Amino acid sequence: MEDPVVQVGDPVLRATAADVPLADIPSERVQEIIRHMETVLDAEQDGAALAAPQIGVPLRIFVLSRRVFGPEGPEKLASKDPHFVFINPTITRRSKRLERMDEGCLSVRGRYGTIRRHTRATVHAYNEHGQPFTRGASGLLAQAFQHECDHLDGTLFTDAAEKVWDVETTKHKR
Ligand code: ZN
Repeated sequence: MEDPVVQVGDPVLRATAADVPLADIPSERVQEIIRHMETVLDAEQDGAALAAPQIGVPLRIFVLSRRVFGPEGPEKLASKDPHFVFINPTITRRSKRLERMDEGCLSVRGRYGTIRRHTRATVHAYNEHGQPFTRGASGLLAQAFQHECDHLDGTLFTDAAEKVWDVETTKHKR
């Protein structure tokens, strides 16, 4: 069966994704892309987040897993923050501090690595209704922000990882 997530080697993963014109956010086309991303991510047992280029769409959108980041999820973030859809995200602040973190990617199946990430990051974005918001995060969410924004600039974690190894199963792929 064809992989629903675009895999490394496909040029769409190396392109710089385009901003979504704000007037297009309510359009059926953009809403359908968001729904499709959520469906694909939801089907991944270990998926934490997904960027639009990973479904072959070169637009600046990423979505977070409600299973991982929702109120019942291990990260328990959504009780205070309802945002799972990030359109035209920009990282506006990063901690000076970096930390080595283990990381995987749904577009690099079977590989895992160690990468240095900022321990905190703040993202400004628009939600699925076109409303702007700002979200600061630490831990796994801050890591996801950096990983997803990298995707929108055509960067994969393996480009900067200090160490990459083969695995059979991993958790929290993005
Ligand atoms: Zn990824």
